[in-house]
Amino acid sequence: MSNSFFSECEDQFLEIAKILNLEQDIINRLRKPDRVIKVEIPITMDDGSQKTFIGFRSQHNNSRGPYKGGIRFHKNVSEDEVKALSMLMSWKCSLVNIPLGGGKGGIIVDPFQLSETELEKLSRGYVQQIYQYIGSDIDIPAPDVHTNSKIMGWMVDEYSKIAGKNSPAAFTGKPKELGGLEGREEATGYGGVVILDKLKEKINLNPSDIKIAIQGFGNVGYNFANLAYQKGYKITGVSEANGGIEVRDGLNPVETLNCKKEKGTIAGCYCVGSVCDLSKGRTISNEDLLEMDVDVLIPAAIEDVITKENASRIKAGYVIEMANGPVTPEAEEILEERGVIIIPDILANAGGVVGSYFEWLQNKDDCCWNKERTFSGISEKLEKEFDEVWNLSKEKNICFKKAAYFLAVSRIVEAIKKKD
Ligand code: NAD
Repeated sequence: MSNSFFSECEDQFLEIAKILNLEQDIINRLRKPDRVIKVEIPITMDDGSQKTFIGFRSQHNNSRGPYKGGIRFHKNVSEDEVKALSMLMSWKCSLVNIPLGGGKGGIIVDPFQLSETELEKLSRGYVQQIYQYIGSDIDIPAPDVHTNSKIMGWMVDEYSKIAGKNSPAAFTGKPKELGGLEGREEATGYGGVVILDKLKEKINLNPSDIKIAIQGFGNVGYNFANLAYQKGYKITGVSEANGGIEVRDGLNPVETLNCKKEKGTIAGCYCVGSVCDLSKGRTISNEDLLEMDVDVLIPAAIEDVITKENASRIKAGYVIEMANGPVTPEAEEILEERGVIIIPDILANAGGVVGSYFEWLQNKDDCCWNKERTFSGISEKLEKEFDEVWNLSKEKNICFKKAAYFLAVSRIVEAIKKKD
């Protein structure tokens, strides 16, 4: 097996295609994106020099609806990565049964090296290059790593200027003033807690008896921690890039965040202010956090953190993949053999794309969804699909993760067949 991210995703699809006994023409169609667009974006830098950046947009499949997926600004963006992520978006949108397909874009850039003016020029330049391939009924981009609502604001403005009309539904993740959705910020963490609640039903324990460790304390990790804490779950460890804390009696995410803001890191926060009073705590490394004695492990930072090296030392019985791709295929096999249940990213972190779907709907209908409606819509979708996957995994005697892919791919195949 090749090491490329896209090859890993392709292999994962081929495994499911085999179980589904798919025809070769459908396999050929779904094993690669429909289209990959590569563009050059020349911009004038603040010092007057010219610099050209490379950008991509990969459109994997639109059989169930327009392509949908984020735009990433990162120095490691590559064609391989956007292809892989666009495929995962197809499976994710299908699994949560929203009428959207899979897309992903990115620009090879370290955004922290650019001034705000340069960043705006780059964002607008990208839209000028891909304009003809995107749109509210074609392909709807959103924020991803190192892009945000401000950048989406510039992009949708550029798109509207070229189109000659206000086109809010062409992008999601926009500022609220430009048609953004209330609750989009918390949507991914919220969706993860909906999944946690479903697991709790299966484990048949009270939230206060369920110990949770969370890697990553950014948008997803923090919102997950805070919402789970409010429901009474016991968060006994959190970490971020430079380390974390273990608090055996449970920690308060808001106090931990305040401490992090004060100190610049959460490592050592257990003994600052009232967080310290909660219980005996200790500073731990990221590796320690993954191997903590907890019931549920939440990788919510980056990809490939649970590998064949540490999989046998994971003590949690359940892993909820809030990050994209945190468990490598080799680690997945080891965990599966040990009976650990993995709730895959395409379900666990799908609250974000469901929120984006609601934003798209509200823009198309020219109306406004409030936070309550957004959250209840996310709950309804994720609870239903969790049950479907759970039942399918029992019926087919396959693990939860494979059942999720089975359902996602089979829905797309049905759509293709209905069209052909
Ligand atoms: P973020 O940048 O807000 O937070 C990332 C967190 O991970 C930070 O706390 C950072 O310190 C930590 N981190 C970075 N490198 C680490 C390392 N090597 N070890 C441990 N921790 C590390 O990002 P986010 O929006 O919270 O996204 C987290 C993950 O969730 C990513 O994989 C992203 O693709 C995925 N995701 C996010 C959303 C969303 O709506 N934000 C939706 C779907 C999936």
